[in-house]
Amino acid sequence: MAITIVKDFCKGCGFCIVSCPKKVFDLSDEMNKKGYRLPAPVRIDDCTGCSLCDLYCPDFAIVLEKTKKKDKEKEVG
Ligand code: SF4
Ligand code: SF4
Repeated sequence: MAITIVKDFCKGCGFCIVSCPKKVFDLSDEMNKKGYRLPAPVRIDDCTGCSLCDLYCPDFAIVLEKTKKKDKEKEVG
């Protein structure tokens, strides 16, 4: 899977961090324009593609895409 965090949509609530059964996300030190700390999919290799993070994100800030193994993580916004 590729996980895209749409930075400007994120409000740093951490729902994606706690909802992921594989603990793929950590809170990063990076902030968006609104001053919210962004999650980062630091353990992307553990992702099973279950989509729970996408479902739990209240702001539609997570986009999941099936992709090849090498281009697995990207960020936009
Ligand atoms: S798709 Fe599932 S395993 Fe992958 S990051 Fe989201 S919640 Fe975690
Ligand atoms: S659940 Fe969505 S809004 Fe909340 S921290 Fe994760 S990406 Fe940001």
